[in-house]
Amino acid sequence: MIEVDCYQCKSNKNELYDTENGHNLVKCLECGLLFLNPRPGLEEINEASKSGLHKGDNKSKKFGEFDEKLKAAYLSRLNDFNYGAMFSEKKQYSWLDIGSGHGELVETLANFGGEYIDVMGIEPNVNKLKAAIDRGINLKFLDLETHQEKYDVISAIDIYSHLPNPPEDIAKWCAMLNQGGELLIQAVDSANLSLENQHKPYSLPDHFSFTSKKLLLQLLQELGMEIIQVESYRLPQYPVFSYLELFKQIGRLLSPGRSANFKFSPKYPDADLWIRAKKRES
Ligand SMILES: [Zn+2]
Repeated sequence: MIEVDCYQCKSNKNELYDTENGHNLVKCLECGLLFLNPRPGLEEINEASKSGLHKGDNKSKKFGEFDEKLKAAYLSRLNDFNYGAMFSEKKQYSWLDIGSGHGELVETLANFGGEYIDVMGIEPNVNKLKAAIDRGINLKFLDLETHQEKYDVISAIDIYSHLPNPPEDIAKWCAMLNQGGELLIQAVDSANLSLENQHKPYSLPDHFSFTSKKLLLQLLQELGMEIIQVESYRLPQYPVFSYLELFKQIGRLLSPGRSANFKFSPKYPDADLWIRAKKRES
């Protein structure tokens, strides 16, 4: 484990904010970023992301599976962010999705962009990668440090908290964009919430940092990106209340081995932050 300074503002002034699984979440006293400190070293992080296993994980743990419901959610996001207009230009766009998991977004994009998109995803977890390739999804594992290719769009969904150093990682992606290229990035907007309103569990030590809308927009602008569109959605862990949903959860509560979720009305459910940004012409 290594001691780290704030990723966002480089300050070394932070205070203990909360603990989970024996790990410390600290708050930067300068900018308010929440981050795991001390944090596993880079080698350990890379090993864990390849195997999908983390210290203390049971080796028989499943790696999940392709989630059809996610595809519907992604399609709705692509429409909200007006990507239909992009693909109606009848130009060819290259799109790289980073941290694709089982490849739900890559498959959604391939259908959505049709002949006008050349989409590839990268995923370090060997089990997820193999499952996606078997399904015919264009997923690879490659080292971004040495990768030379450039793209028109780079997306990074549901991986912000897994990034070992978000400003460095996102700067790398910006450098991989073509002139006028775009980022589509998702993160949980939670660093600004008070302790009692946090979206727990934090999943420490798998998650390294938590940002906010203000901090992430600021970071993207500092990296030379122009913000095109910002949307906030309900976090998927909070079911929308209906009697049907309530009965479903009661059913889960009563079936052995399943867990129920009655978190219908948290104070800040709309923390699923999506940002579309464009590289400024240089
Ligand atoms: Zn800071």
